[in-house]
Amino acid sequence: MSFGIDDLPVRDELRGKSPYGAPQLDVPVRLNTNENPYPLPEPLVERIAERVREAARDLNRYPDRDAVELRTQLAKYLTDTSGHEVGLANVWAANGSNEVIQQLLQTFGGPGRTAIGFEPSYSMHGLIARGTGTGWISGPRNEDFTIDVEAAARAIADARPDVVFVTTPNNPTGNAVPPETVLALYEAAQAAKPSMVVVDEAYVEFSHGDSLLPLIEGRPQLVISRTMSKAFGAAGLRLGYLAAHPAVVDAVQLVRLPYHLSAVTQATALAALEHTDTLLKYVEQLKAERDRLVSELRELGFQVVESDANFVQFGLFDDSHAAWQKILDRGVLVRDNGIPGWLRVSAGTPEENDAFLDAVRELKKELN
Ligand code: PMP
Repeated sequence: MSFGIDDLPVRDELRGKSPYGAPQLDVPVRLNTNENPYPLPEPLVERIAERVREAARDLNRYPDRDAVELRTQLAKYLTDTSGHEVGLANVWAANGSNEVIQQLLQTFGGPGRTAIGFEPSYSMHGLIARGTGTGWISGPRNEDFTIDVEAAARAIADARPDVVFVTTPNNPTGNAVPPETVLALYEAAQAAKPSMVVVDEAYVEFSHGDSLLPLIEGRPQLVISRTMSKAFGAAGLRLGYLAAHPAVVDAVQLVRLPYHLSAVTQATALAALEHTDTLLKYVEQLKAERDRLVSELRELGFQVVESDANFVQFGLFDDSHAAWQKILDRGVLVRDNGIPGWLRVSAGTPEENDAFLDAVRELKKELN
């Protein structure tokens, strides 16, 4: 018998668990991880090379620990797109919004504390909770994947969690949470503890509605989490950020590793932000393709959750895993999130979406 993970003194709560991650299969059409299908435009690639070349000359030195220029530019982007003015002191950045969430849980969660999310939702919230020793509470959601405000507020009142996660638009279901619901949950969280409320807006640029960023005004325990992985088409960059009261930004600095954002990351993100206008044009194309997926899937007779994201949750299948495999056999990789009856497809290029729609059209014929 070879020595394995179970022979190591790993923490009890990690025993028997598997690491998070979608299959990275080499198939012609990959629509399983909500990436942006468009490669960065060539002028931006050139600008990144230039910025990184400059940064390389100083790589003997640690990077700007506080990422001041980057946070200033992120604040400008948020101000320009939300109409709500935020500045450097309101914004914090890390390696992907997963790291932002980890830092928030290290700061406001931890052993003896709990966090709640309304599931099905982004499963990393619970996994990062576990990794930081924070207890995880699975809050309720309706059959149609909306949040029942009363049931959710009751769950908060009963559990008195330290951190409340609200993902809008939600992953994997795609639906947005109305601002009134977020406000009601914030009130419930303040009455119960008071706890931190983290609004995960990873997909907000694809939404029909607006960012909830203006709600941070006068609500120091509300945090908006964002990422450059989706709308900016830069999942490989690993850059996430948050906007909140300056006290929250001060607090997360207690747990961040010094120099956590490399000079190369900062230079690349700054170059991408210089090209915001071009990158956001792809968002409009993706929104149109997302809407096309919704209507064509409905025409084919599938149930589809209303989507404000760059992906669509569709069903219902008697055996969603078998359906996933059949779509894969036709060269298209979608996501099986383990929600019985449902699968999720990310909006790709028009050609990729056509390939997906051909695959499900054939599947539908087989199932009928
Ligand atoms: N939040 C949500 C809701 C997500 O779906 C994802 C990525 N799938 C993330 C956060 C993390 O994204 P990243 O770490 O790439 O910023």
